[in-house]
Amino acid sequence: MGKRKRVLVKFSGEALAGSTGFGIDNSILKFIADEIKELVSHDIEVGIVIGGGNIIRGVSAARDGIIKRTSGDHMGMLATVINSIAMREALEHTGVDVRVQSAIKMEAICETFIVGRAQRHLEKGRVVIFAAGTGNPFFTTDTAATLRAIEINSDMIIKATKVDGVYDKDPAKFSDAVLLKTLSYKDAMQDDIKVMDDTSIALAQDNKLPILVCNMFKKGNLLSIINGDDDALYSIVK
Ligand code: UDP
Repeated sequence: MGKRKRVLVKFSGEALAGSTGFGIDNSILKFIADEIKELVSHDIEVGIVIGGGNIIRGVSAARDGIIKRTSGDHMGMLATVINSIAMREALEHTGVDVRVQSAIKMEAICETFIVGRAQRHLEKGRVVIFAAGTGNPFFTTDTAATLRAIEINSDMIIKATKVDGVYDKDPAKFSDAVLLKTLSYKDAMQDDIKVMDDTSIALAQDNKLPILVCNMFKKGNLLSIINGDDDALYSIVK
Protein backbone atom coordinates (compact mmCIF):
# COMPACT_ATOMS: atom_id res chain seq x y z
CA MET A 1 0.00 0.00 0.00
CA GLY A 2 1.32 3.44 -0.94
CA LYS A 3 1.74 6.31 1.42
CA ARG A 4 -1.57 7.75 2.58
CA LYS A 5 -2.50 11.23 1.40
CA ARG A 6 -2.48 13.93 4.03
CA VAL A 7 -4.45 17.14 3.57
CA LEU A 8 -5.12 20.27 5.56
CA VAL A 9 -8.57 21.73 5.00
CA LYS A 10 -9.21 25.37 5.87
CA PHE A 11 -12.78 26.63 6.38
CA SER A 12 -13.62 30.22 7.18
CA GLY A 13 -15.59 30.86 10.33
CA GLU A 14 -18.26 32.51 8.20
CA ALA A 15 -18.86 29.21 6.44
CA LEU A 16 -20.18 27.78 9.71
CA ALA A 17 -22.63 30.62 10.20
CA GLY A 18 -24.92 29.90 7.28
CA SER A 19 -27.15 32.64 5.95
CA THR A 20 -27.22 34.74 9.12
CA GLY A 21 -23.43 35.36 8.95
CA PHE A 22 -23.12 34.95 12.71
CA GLY A 23 -22.77 32.07 15.12
CA ILE A 24 -22.80 28.39 14.26
CA ASP A 25 -25.40 26.58 12.18
CA ASN A 26 -25.50 22.95 13.30
CA SER A 27 -26.76 21.74 9.94
CA ILE A 28 -23.62 23.15 8.31
CA LEU A 29 -21.45 21.54 10.99
CA LYS A 30 -23.13 18.25 10.19
CA PHE A 31 -22.61 18.70 6.44
CA ILE A 32 -18.90 19.42 6.89
CA ALA A 33 -18.50 16.53 9.34
CA ASP A 34 -20.03 14.13 6.79
CA GLU A 35 -17.69 15.42 4.07
CA ILE A 36 -14.67 14.95 6.35
CA LYS A 37 -15.89 11.48 7.31
CA GLU A 38 -15.87 10.55 3.62
CA LEU A 39 -12.21 11.52 3.39
CA VAL A 40 -11.27 9.55 6.51
CA SER A 41 -13.13 6.48 5.29
CA HIS A 42 -11.07 6.70 2.07
CA ASP A 43 -7.88 6.53 4.10
CA ILE A 44 -7.01 10.21 3.78
CA GLU A 45 -5.35 11.87 6.76
CA VAL A 46 -7.08 15.14 7.58
CA GLY A 47 -6.04 18.24 9.49
CA ILE A 48 -8.52 21.10 9.81
CA VAL A 49 -8.22 24.81 10.54
CA ILE A 50 -11.37 26.88 11.05
CA GLY A 51 -11.43 30.66 11.11
CA GLY A 52 -13.28 32.78 13.64
CA GLY A 53 -14.91 35.43 11.49
CA ASN A 54 -18.44 34.25 12.35
CA ILE A 55 -17.79 35.38 15.93
CA ILE A 56 -15.14 38.09 15.98
CA ARG A 57 -12.17 39.42 14.05
CA GLY A 58 -9.35 41.39 15.63
CA VAL A 59 -9.46 44.22 13.14
CA SER A 60 -13.20 44.82 13.63
CA ALA A 61 -13.02 44.46 17.42
CA ALA A 62 -10.29 47.14 17.52
CA ARG A 63 -12.09 49.43 15.05
CA ASP A 64 -12.87 52.30 17.43
CA GLY A 65 -9.75 52.09 19.61
CA ILE A 66 -11.50 50.92 22.78
CA ILE A 67 -10.15 47.38 22.38
CA LYS A 68 -6.45 47.11 21.54
CA ARG A 69 -5.63 45.26 18.30
CA THR A 70 -3.60 42.61 20.14
CA SER A 71 -6.54 42.00 22.49
CA GLY A 72 -8.95 41.90 19.57
CA ASP A 73 -6.73 39.29 17.96
CA HIS A 74 -6.70 37.28 21.18
CA MET A 75 -10.50 37.38 21.04
CA GLY A 76 -10.40 36.27 17.40
CA MET A 77 -8.14 33.34 18.24
CA LEU A 78 -10.47 32.31 21.06
CA ALA A 79 -13.33 32.43 18.54
CA THR A 80 -11.52 29.80 16.48
CA VAL A 81 -11.38 27.61 19.59
CA ILE A 82 -15.15 27.87 19.94
CA ASN A 83 -15.59 26.83 16.30
CA SER A 84 -13.06 24.02 16.68
CA ILE A 85 -14.91 22.57 19.67
CA ALA A 86 -18.16 22.71 17.71
CA MET A 87 -16.52 20.94 14.76
CA ARG A 88 -15.01 18.33 17.06
CA GLU A 89 -18.46 17.57 18.48
CA ALA A 90 -19.99 17.25 15.01
CA LEU A 91 -17.20 14.91 13.89
CA GLU A 92 -17.49 12.78 17.02
CA HIS A 93 -21.24 12.66 16.52
CA THR A 94 -20.77 11.13 13.06
CA GLY A 95 -18.29 8.63 14.48
CA VAL A 96 -14.99 10.23 13.45
CA ASP A 97 -12.06 10.05 15.85
CA VAL A 98 -10.84 13.62 16.38
CA ARG A 99 -8.58 15.76 18.53
CA VAL A 100 -8.37 19.54 18.96
CA GLN A 101 -4.93 21.05 19.45
CA SER A 102 -4.73 24.71 20.42
CA ALA A 103 -1.80 27.04 19.77
CA ILE A 104 -2.66 28.67 23.11
CA LYS A 105 -2.59 26.37 26.10
CA MET A 106 -6.08 25.53 27.38
CA GLU A 107 -5.56 22.25 29.11
CA ALA A 108 -9.06 21.84 30.54
CA ILE A 109 -10.55 22.11 27.06
CA CYS A 110 -8.18 20.59 24.52
CA GLU A 111 -4.65 19.49 23.80
CA THR A 112 -1.90 22.01 23.18
CA PHE A 113 -0.35 21.99 19.71
CA ILE A 114 2.63 19.66 19.58
CA VAL A 115 3.63 18.79 16.05
CA GLY A 116 4.87 15.27 16.79
CA ARG A 117 1.72 14.45 18.67
CA ALA A 118 -0.42 15.83 15.86
CA GLN A 119 1.50 13.65 13.38
CA ARG A 120 0.84 10.56 15.48
CA HIS A 121 -2.88 11.31 15.70
CA LEU A 122 -2.97 11.62 11.91
CA GLU A 123 -1.05 8.38 11.42
CA LYS A 124 -3.64 6.67 13.61
CA GLY A 125 -6.40 7.96 11.35
CA ARG A 126 -7.61 10.67 13.73
CA VAL A 127 -8.64 14.06 12.42
CA VAL A 128 -6.75 16.92 14.08
CA ILE A 129 -8.33 20.36 14.36
CA PHE A 130 -5.75 23.09 14.88
CA ALA A 131 -7.29 25.86 16.98
CA ALA A 132 -6.25 29.37 18.10
CA GLY A 133 -4.55 30.23 14.83
CA THR A 134 -0.79 30.65 15.10
CA GLY A 135 -1.15 31.80 18.70
CA ASN A 136 0.10 35.25 17.66
CA PRO A 137 -1.75 38.47 16.91
CA PHE A 138 -1.50 40.10 13.45
CA PHE A 139 -1.82 36.77 11.65
CA THR A 140 -4.81 35.15 10.00
CA THR A 141 -6.15 31.64 10.17
CA ASP A 142 -5.17 31.26 6.50
CA THR A 143 -1.58 31.76 7.59
CA ALA A 144 -2.10 29.42 10.54
CA ALA A 145 -3.50 26.79 8.16
CA THR A 146 -0.56 27.15 5.78
CA LEU A 147 1.89 26.92 8.66
CA ARG A 148 0.27 23.81 10.10
CA ALA A 149 0.04 22.21 6.65
CA ILE A 150 3.78 22.65 6.23
CA GLU A 151 4.57 21.50 9.76
CA ILE A 152 2.62 18.25 9.35
CA ASN A 153 4.00 17.64 5.82
CA SER A 154 0.58 17.90 4.25
CA ASP A 155 0.44 17.17 0.51
CA MET A 156 -1.71 20.24 -0.04
CA ILE A 157 -3.80 22.89 1.65
CA ILE A 158 -7.42 23.01 0.58
CA LYS A 159 -9.08 26.35 0.98
CA ALA A 160 -12.75 25.41 1.15
CA THR A 161 -14.90 28.37 0.09
CA LYS A 162 -18.35 29.25 -1.22
CA VAL A 163 -17.12 29.46 -4.83
CA ASP A 164 -15.78 26.87 -7.27
CA GLY A 165 -12.31 28.40 -7.43
CA VAL A 166 -10.52 31.53 -8.60
CA TYR A 167 -12.04 33.44 -11.52
CA ASP A 168 -10.42 35.99 -13.82
CA LYS A 169 -13.17 38.42 -12.77
CA ASP A 170 -16.08 38.43 -10.32
CA PRO A 171 -18.49 35.69 -11.48
CA ALA A 172 -21.34 37.38 -9.58
CA LYS A 173 -20.94 40.46 -11.82
CA PHE A 174 -19.67 39.04 -15.12
CA SER A 175 -21.35 36.13 -16.89
CA ASP A 176 -18.22 35.52 -19.00
CA ALA A 177 -15.95 35.09 -15.95
CA VAL A 178 -13.59 32.14 -16.45
CA LEU A 179 -12.43 29.76 -13.72
CA LEU A 180 -8.63 29.72 -13.61
CA LYS A 181 -7.48 26.09 -13.34
CA THR A 182 -3.88 26.84 -12.46
CA LEU A 183 -2.25 29.95 -11.01
CA SER A 184 1.30 30.68 -9.99
CA TYR A 185 1.96 31.91 -6.45
CA LYS A 186 2.79 35.27 -8.03
CA ASP A 187 -0.61 35.35 -9.78
CA ALA A 188 -2.31 34.53 -6.49
CA MET A 189 -0.63 37.50 -4.80
CA GLN A 190 -2.12 40.00 -7.25
CA ASP A 191 -4.44 42.45 -5.55
CA ASP A 192 -7.54 41.55 -7.54
CA ILE A 193 -7.18 37.81 -6.88
CA LYS A 194 -8.39 36.84 -3.45
CA VAL A 195 -7.08 33.38 -2.64
CA MET A 196 -5.42 33.98 0.71
CA ASP A 197 -3.43 36.85 2.20
CA ASP A 198 0.10 37.41 0.90
CA THR A 199 1.74 36.10 4.08
CA SER A 200 0.05 32.72 3.57
CA ILE A 201 0.86 32.57 -0.12
CA ALA A 202 4.51 33.51 0.44
CA LEU A 203 4.81 30.81 3.10
CA ALA A 204 3.23 28.25 0.76
CA GLN A 205 5.53 29.31 -2.07
CA ASP A 206 8.68 29.07 0.05
CA ASN A 207 7.72 25.54 1.03
CA LYS A 208 6.26 24.42 -2.32
CA LEU A 209 2.87 23.73 -0.77
CA PRO A 210 0.09 23.59 -3.39
CA ILE A 211 -3.05 25.58 -2.53
CA LEU A 212 -6.35 24.21 -3.85
CA VAL A 213 -9.35 26.50 -3.81
CA CYS A 214 -12.72 24.80 -4.06
CA ASN A 215 -16.39 24.90 -3.18
CA MET A 216 -17.08 23.22 0.14
CA PHE A 217 -20.84 23.14 -0.28
CA LYS A 218 -20.88 20.62 -3.13
CA LYS A 219 -21.34 17.16 -1.77
CA GLY A 220 -18.44 14.83 -2.53
CA ASN A 221 -16.31 17.65 -3.92
CA LEU A 222 -13.44 17.39 -1.43
CA LEU A 223 -13.02 13.69 -2.06
CA SER A 224 -13.10 13.97 -5.85
CA ILE A 225 -10.57 16.81 -5.76
CA ILE A 226 -8.17 14.87 -3.56
CA ASN A 227 -8.64 11.78 -5.74
CA GLY A 228 -7.78 13.90 -8.79
CA ASP A 229 -11.06 13.15 -10.63
CA ASP A 230 -11.14 14.67 -14.11
CA ASP A 231 -14.39 16.55 -13.58
CA ALA A 232 -13.46 17.94 -10.13
CA LEU A 233 -13.85 21.69 -10.06
CA TYR A 234 -11.16 23.75 -8.34
CA SER A 235 -8.25 26.13 -8.89
CA ILE A 236 -4.73 25.20 -7.92
CA VAL A 237 -1.97 27.59 -6.95
CA LYS A 238 1.44 26.00 -7.40
N1 UDP B 1 -6.08 35.54 14.60
C1 UDP B 1 -4.86 35.93 15.12
N2 UDP B 1 -3.76 35.16 14.87
C2 UDP B 1 -3.81 34.03 14.12
C3 UDP B 1 -5.06 33.65 13.57
C4 UDP B 1 -6.18 34.42 13.83
O1 UDP B 1 -4.75 36.93 15.81
O2 UDP B 1 -2.77 33.37 13.94
C5 UDP B 1 -7.29 36.32 14.95
C6 UDP B 1 -7.50 37.56 14.10
O3 UDP B 1 -8.02 38.56 14.91
C7 UDP B 1 -8.55 37.09 13.11
C8 UDP B 1 -9.40 36.18 13.96
O4 UDP B 1 -8.45 35.51 14.80
O5 UDP B 1 -9.31 38.15 12.59
C9 UDP B 1 -10.24 35.17 13.21
O6 UDP B 1 -9.51 34.58 12.19
P1 UDP B 1 -9.80 34.89 10.62
O7 UDP B 1 -10.15 36.32 10.44
O8 UDP B 1 -8.63 34.36 9.86
O9 UDP B 1 -11.07 33.98 10.38
P2 UDP B 1 -11.90 33.66 9.03
O10 UDP B 1 -11.88 34.90 8.17
O11 UDP B 1 -11.20 32.54 8.34
O12 UDP B 1 -13.25 33.26 9.52
